[in-house]
Parts: sequence; structure tokens; C-alpha cells
Amino acid sequence: MKIVNLTEGTTVYTSNVYLVTGSWNALKDKNTLIDVGRDPAVFDRIDRASTGVGKHKVDQVIITHSHFDHASLLPPRIREAYKPEVYAFSKYIKYIDTVVRDGDLLRVGDETAEIIHTPGHSSDSICIYCRESHTLFAGDTPLVIRSDDGTYEEEFILALEKICRKKVDAIYPGHGDPPCATTAQNSCKNHSGMQSQPCRDRRDPEDDATRSFFVRPLYRQ
Ligand SMILES: [Zn+2]
Repeated sequence: MKIVNLTEGTTVYTSNVYLVTGSWNALKDKNTLIDVGRDPAVFDRIDRASTGVGKHKVDQVIITHSHFDHASLLPPRIREAYKPEVYAFSKYIKYIDTVVRDGDLLRVGDETAEIIHTPGHSSDSICIYCRESHTLFAGDTPLVIRSDDGTYEEEFILALEKICRKKVDAIYPGHGDPPCATTAQNSCKNHSGMQSQPCRDRRDPEDDATRSFFVRPLYRQ
């Protein structure tokens, strides 16, 4: 799988926009945009990208959630330019073709990707987990819990718990530099007792991956 952030160096306020292709641009690979953002410069970058001879530049788009900085270019420009199949959790995003649900599987690049519904940042947020490379596209789902006194909705905790059970080697966030983690054997899979509230951050000072990385989630002390 190859991943390019099409908004690198942008001066426009936008989410990251990832173009995901197969390693060898095989015909069966699905050239995928993860989010579309709001910087028109992505069109030029897509047109210059190596996406395979005889293939659509963009076969499909997956929107991580409906916020404007992730989805603004969709109606109608991305649609007109590439005629992709468009996937999102919310049926209220304009120009959506297919509503996805937790556990759905899609082909992304040359991998199998699982949709994980992660309500928290927004009710329609999803993460996209690519099974072969253990890559997680997180959108704006907050995977780093910095405070030990927050409260969280039960569904959000359950979603984090689900992510914790997976092997994650790299996270591509909706904003900021990707990938934001490369060590990501997640650290909580052997723990139990995750609670929605009250909750405390269980820190393990011996475990750098735990400290520097994500989902140290939320354990009752
Ligand atoms: Zn957002």
C-alpha cells in the first residue's frame, strides 16, 4: 500500500487528504481518497500521482466524518472530476453513494480495510483500519487521551477498546503530520476494566510506546 498526503505544505485550512494506492498499481487495487479536504490544489496532485495505467485516478472516496474541513470539496468537484464511489457513515453528507457501518469491509489500495465507528469527535466519525499493513486512518477521532479527569461516552470507550485489540503500526490522523506513530503495538489489549467514567489514565513509566503514543486509554484506578 502506498499513502500520499495530498495536502502536505498547504496554506489552506483543510484536513489531511490521503491518496491510497496499491504497491504495484494492480488493476484490482482500489485507488482511494480518505477525506477530500478543502484545498483545490489536491486536484493537481492527484493528476500527477502514479495511480496505474488504465485505472481511474480515484475509484472511491471514504469520508471520515462530515465536518467541512474533511468533506468540503466533495460536492461537486471531486465527484465531477473522478466519478468515485463515495462512502461515509452519515447519510446526510451530500453525494454519498454508500453508507458504511461498523465492521464493514472495503478494499483500499491493495488491502482489506475495516470500518470502525468511533463516535466521540462527531457522531458519524469512523476510523479505517487496513488489516495487512496494520495502518489506521483516524480522521479526527481523539486517540490520545491527555487528561485523566475527562468523561467519555460509553460508545466512544467501546470504540477505543476495539482499536486497542488491534495491532496498529502507523496512524494517519486527520490533521498534523502523518504517521503520528510507528511503534504502535498497542498497549492495552491485555488489560480489562476499561470504564467510561469515572476514569483515570493508567500510565506505565516503563513503556515508552504507551506514554508517547495513543490509546493509553482509560482505566479505573
Ligand atoms: Zn472534525
